Amino acid sequence: MAKKTIKINFDTGWDLAPAPESTGHIQINNKYDLFIGGKWVKPSSGKYFETTNPADEQKLALIAEANAKDVDKAVKAARKAYDTVWSKMPAKERGKYIYRIARLIQEKAREFAVIETLDGGKPIRESRDIDIPLAAAHFFYYAGWADKLEYAFPNRKPKSLGVAGQITPWNFPLLMAAWKIAPALATGNTVVLKPAETTSLTALKLAEVIKETGLPDGVVNIVTGAGETGAAIVNHNDIDKIAFTGSTGVGKIIQNAIAGTNKKATLELGGKAANIIFEDAPLDQAVEGIINGIFFNQGHVCCAGSRLFIQESVYDIVIRKLKDRMESLIIGNPLDKNTDVGAINSKEQLTTINKYIKIGKEEGAEIYQPNCALPKNGYWCKPTLFTGVSQSSRIVQEEIFGPVLAIQTFRTVAEVIDKANNTPFGLSAGVWTDKGSKMFNVTSQLNAGIVWGNTYNKFDPTSPFGGYKESGFGREGGLHGLKAYLKF
Ligand code: NAD
Repeated sequence: MAKKTIKINFDTGWDLAPAPESTGHIQINNKYDLFIGGKWVKPSSGKYFETTNPADEQKLALIAEANAKDVDKAVKAARKAYDTVWSKMPAKERGKYIYRIARLIQEKAREFAVIETLDGGKPIRESRDIDIPLAAAHFFYYAGWADKLEYAFPNRKPKSLGVAGQITPWNFPLLMAAWKIAPALATGNTVVLKPAETTSLTALKLAEVIKETGLPDGVVNIVTGAGETGAAIVNHNDIDKIAFTGSTGVGKIIQNAIAGTNKKATLELGGKAANIIFEDAPLDQAVEGIINGIFFNQGHVCCAGSRLFIQESVYDIVIRKLKDRMESLIIGNPLDKNTDVGAINSKEQLTTINKYIKIGKEEGAEIYQPNCALPKNGYWCKPTLFTGVSQSSRIVQEEIFGPVLAIQTFRTVAEVIDKANNTPFGLSAGVWTDKGSKMFNVTSQLNAGIVWGNTYNKFDPTSPFGGYKESGFGREGGLHGLKAYLKF
């Protein structure tokens, strides 16, 4: 297939020396077909859609749109591979393939990182230092478990489920694919994966890697498209398990669709995390953690610390430090290694974020944004902080999925626990304090699947991840992640 060179032009008006990562070493095809049964297959409708760079609105590639017929082909390929090869292969051999995938991701890490940044708009620092190494780490971790399942679950004789349908969001495209594919393969299942429509490229690159490893045909199938393609996977009657990461709204549709079927499910959904700063916290460290938790990633993280609670006695100083730090954030070319805040993933997402900023102002909250210029093309949003909000404000209750922080105060431990738990979500939280006893007391009372202490947004393949309430159910990562693909 024809290869092309990507050229990026930026005019941000800043006077710092640019340090952009080169795009010379990457290969993006003009057009991507579906990866079914180990081959590149044209979509039966003949339809393709564009994937663009949100930082400059330029087209990157055409992506095939899979319909129900294509999904059926992919499920059949996955079933055949499950019945004839993968479920029969000795677990040790399965593990070798997974190791190979991990090593190839490491080898091609720079290419993966640049493509992730081009397609999704996140700073190269994040794709280079977080997304890609963690994706490889998940494959390494689960490769190790493939032939040790009986030790992971002693006396329980774990068995694979069959064919897993996996649907991922746009915020961590390769990493979410790794979270899903690696444990599914390690436990002997085969896979039909659908990446998000705005960020399909690294999943398609992963298909190339998978082909290179010689993984038997049909063990991993990757179909691209939007919601209808996802729904065709969910509704297919030969799927044994749905693993979904995305919005709470779509999670509810999926739960309704599979009710009354034998399909197992894990749903990793939205969040509205509380970050809590006590007066005895190391304040500079906490401010850096708050900034990292909500602004470094444009707030495009399900566990973004989007609600901040500051103990009243340190409110003024924390707000001053936060505003000072926001002024020094570098917003712009995501490929630049200095960039802290990249582009918003799509025009639709920018519209949603701007809608919430307007709601915040209309609700009477006080807004603060740094005094910086935004690039002329592409989708951009200034890091935004709201003070003077109340528990009932929509910007406090609803997930925005953008760089918008809503700040409240508190006086006592009991009060902040009440406020932090007063949300429909329960994915993550952060606590900042120097007192160990307070840390244990507060973290154990927060209704959140993940609680960070004096740090934020730290991930590890050995550690389970998942939520309560409207943040979904089931866990990915660690032994919990293996269990979700097994029956006993
Ligand atoms: P989304 O729900 O719009 O889309 C997620 C995926 O579902 C996409 O691949 C999409 O094409 C597909 N989809 C859409 N409609 C569907 C349908 N009816 N049936 C089946 N599939 C369908 O979410 P998004 O905007 O891509 O991602 C952002 C959301 O994901 C946020 O709410 C965020 O909190 C959440 N998220 C959660 C986690 C977690 O681990 N809990 C991680 C990352 C993102």
